[in-house]
Amino acid sequence: MKYIFSLIFFFITTLSLSQGQCGFNDVKMMGFYGRQKKSINVSNRTEVHTIPVVFHVIHLGEDVGVGTNISDEQILDGLRILNEDFRKIQGTWGDGDGVDVEIEFCLSQRDPNNNPTSGINRVNGNQWPSYVDEGIRVNPLNSGEPEINIKSATSWDRSSYMNVWIVSEIHDSNVSPQGFATLPTNSITDGIIILHNVIGSFGNVQSFHNMSRTLTHEVGHYLGLFHTFGMYQTCDNALSESDCQTQGDMVCDTPPTTPNLQCDDWCPGAQYENYMDYSLQSCKNMFTQGQKDRMRGVNGILNPFRISLLDSEGCVPVEGFNLSLKLPQVVNECGTEPFKPQIEVKNLGTIPVYEFSVTCTIENTPYEVVKDCVLTNPLLPQNSVFIDFDYSSLGYGNYVINFNLTTEDIYSGDNFVTYEFNHQPSQEMTLIINTDFFGNETSWELIDQNTQEIIWSQDGYPIGMEFPSVEITCIQNGCYDFVIYDLAGDGMQFGGDFTLLDASGNTLAYGEGDWGSVLTFPFCVENQTSENCEDLNNNGICDFDEEIVNYIEEPINQSDEIKQIIKIRTFDISGRILSESENYQPGIYILMIEYEDGSYDSQKIFRWD
Ligand SMILES: [Zn+2]
Repeated sequence: MKYIFSLIFFFITTLSLSQGQCGFNDVKMMGFYGRQKKSINVSNRTEVHTIPVVFHVIHLGEDVGVGTNISDEQILDGLRILNEDFRKIQGTWGDGDGVDVEIEFCLSQRDPNNNPTSGINRVNGNQWPSYVDEGIRVNPLNSGEPEINIKSATSWDRSSYMNVWIVSEIHDSNVSPQGFATLPTNSITDGIIILHNVIGSFGNVQSFHNMSRTLTHEVGHYLGLFHTFGMYQTCDNALSESDCQTQGDMVCDTPPTTPNLQCDDWCPGAQYENYMDYSLQSCKNMFTQGQKDRMRGVNGILNPFRISLLDSEGCVPVEGFNLSLKLPQVVNECGTEPFKPQIEVKNLGTIPVYEFSVTCTIENTPYEVVKDCVLTNPLLPQNSVFIDFDYSSLGYGNYVINFNLTTEDIYSGDNFVTYEFNHQPSQEMTLIINTDFFGNETSWELIDQNTQEIIWSQDGYPIGMEFPSVEITCIQNGCYDFVIYDLAGDGMQFGGDFTLLDASGNTLAYGEGDWGSVLTFPFCVENQTSENCEDLNNNGICDFDEEIVNYIEEPINQSDEIKQIIKIRTFDISGRILSESENYQPGIYILMIEYEDGSYDSQKIFRWD
C-alpha cells in the first residue's frame, strides 16, 4: 500500500517538475511553409569523429620528465603523430598510400568528475610491488602486476575516454612487447597499454621506436582492427585465403600475408606499409579504406562499444558560460501516440544560466520550432533541463531531427544534436521472469517471424534464488516467436516461472514447472487503439497538429499547462478496479489519472516484495 502511494506521489511530482523547471516566455513557429532549409551539422559517414584520450603515466616515483615518468611534451608528441597518422596529414610521416580515417584524438580537458584536467594522469606505481620489479602483466603466464589491479584503480569511464596506460615494463621487459590494446569491449581492462619508451619521437625513446608507430597500431586494435596477417603462420596458408570478409584480418583491401618484420613483402604482394603489420616503423604509413570502414562501423558511427565516445564531454573545457545539447537516454516513445521531440540542455560551464534558446527542425518538413527559455531557478553547473517540443507532433515515418542551441557560448562543438528516428506503431512488452534455482540454464529470445532476426534476448541468469527480473522493451507491430530454453532440459521445475505481457496486460506467454528444453509462443502485435494520423499535404505532421500549431500565437503561460488531477484509479491487469483499502499482491498494476479537463494519463507500476 505504501509503495503504491509513494509511486503516485512520485509521478505527480515529476509531472509538475518537468513543467516547472523551464518557463518559456515565447514560442514562435517560423516559416511554416516553403522556407528554405537551414544547414545544420548532421552527423553522417563523412563527419570527422573526435575521441577524448587520457594518458595514465604509471611511473616509478621519478620527477616528471625523468625515467619512466616521461614529460608532457613527449606524450603530446605521441598524440600529434597519432592524429597525423589517422588523418593522413600532408607532409607528415602519416602521409602515405592510405586514406584519411577521419578520426581524431583530443587530450581530455575534463575528468569523469567534471574537474579540469591536463589529460595526463600521473600515478606512482610504487603502490604495486610487482609493478616496481616487473611492470604490468597482461598474459597470466608472464610476470608483473596483473593489469586488472592497475587498470581498475586508475581507469576513467571507458564509455567516455580512451584510456592509455604508459608503463615502465610489460612482462618484465622494457623492450618487447611494446604495447597491448583491447578490441572494442566493455571490460574493465578496456584500453591501451604502451611502454614509456616507444611513444613520441623524442625524450625517453628507444632509437628504433622513435616514430610512435606503436601507439597508432594499438589504437587501430582499440577501434576494431586485427593484424593484417590475421593468424596466418605460413605464406601458403595466407595466400590460400578464400573469403577476405571472414578470414585473415576480415578486411578485403589488405592482401593476406604472414607478419612482415622488415620493409619488404615476405609474402608476395603483402602491404608491409600498413600500420597493422609488424614491419619496421620507417616504412609504416597507411590504413586502407577497408580498415577505415571497419573502424568507423556500419553507419560510420564506430563499433557499438565505441559509439558512446562520440557523446563524451571529455574534451569540453570546464569554464565560463557553456551549454551542451544531449539526446535524452530514451528517444523511442513506445506506443501509438504521436512522437514528440525532446532534448536535454546541460550546463557544462562554471556559471549559472538563466536564459537560452533552442531550435528544433525536422529535415524535409517545414517543422521548425524555436524555444526561448527563461528559467525561474538558474540552471547550475552540471545540471540539466529537458525541453519538450510538443507544440507539434509527428505521424509515423522516418525523420532526421536537428536541435540547435542558438545562444552563443564559449564552446560551440556541442551545440548541435541530430538523430534519425523511425516512428512506427509499437507497444511495450513486459517479461517477468523468475528463474528456478538453476537460472544459469535459462535463456530466451524474441524472434521476428518475418526477418528471423532476434530483436530481444537474455541469458546469463545467476544460480540461486533471486528477485524476479522484469524486462521491458518496445516492439513494432508484427508477428513474433517468443522462445525460451532450458539447457538441462527440465524447464523451471525448481520453483520458477515466466510471463510475457503486452501493453494491455494480456498474457502472450507463460510457463512454470518442467517444460523440457524449449517452449515457443507465436503471437502477433497490432495496435488497434489509434490510427496513423491524417497527413494530406504529406509533410510528416498530423493535419490535426498543424491546425493546433498554427493556432498558437500568444506566448504560452507555463502555469496554464499544469492540469489539475481530480482522480487516480488503480487497475490490476485483468482490468478490475482496486479499492484503496485493498492489500495489493505482487504484480503489475495500471494507474489511470483523470484530469479536470476530462483527459487521462496512464502509468504502469510494478510491485514485488
Ligand atoms: Zn598488434
